[in-house]
Amino acid sequence: MVSDRNSLADLFFAQAERFAAVHPRINGVTLRIVASHYLRSPEYRDLAWYDPDSHAVYLLDRLRYLPQDNQLGVIWHELGHAADENISSKGAERRADSISEGVTGRPLLYDLRGVQSAARGVCERSEIFD
Ligand SMILES: [Zn+2]
Repeated sequence: MVSDRNSLADLFFAQAERFAAVHPRINGVTLRIVASHYLRSPEYRDLAWYDPDSHAVYLLDRLRYLPQDNQLGVIWHELGHAADENISSKGAERRADSISEGVTGRPLLYDLRGVQSAARGVCERSEIFD
């Protein structure tokens, strides 16, 4: 199913509310959905990032064409970064996943292309994706 423009934002804010209930730091997080050509030569896995200076999560708009399990997984991971008090310290990628797990109660997994997924049956974060 392909999401329409609003449903990616709706999905994000519903999850942000869920994370904020556990991590008050998430309150006030903003979302910027940007055109995929925002990045000059994006790799397949370049779908989202968190900017600590503006407390904003950026999602590339092509994320809406990925399965909803990937959309959720990517959003969970970025909200994990946004909730991280020590984002600049070593281990931030795994910490984002473990913050996500603490909120959702399920491990954040990765599909075979290295994109986060809420689906079950895929692999955990591999060293090659660090
Ligand atoms: Zn990350």
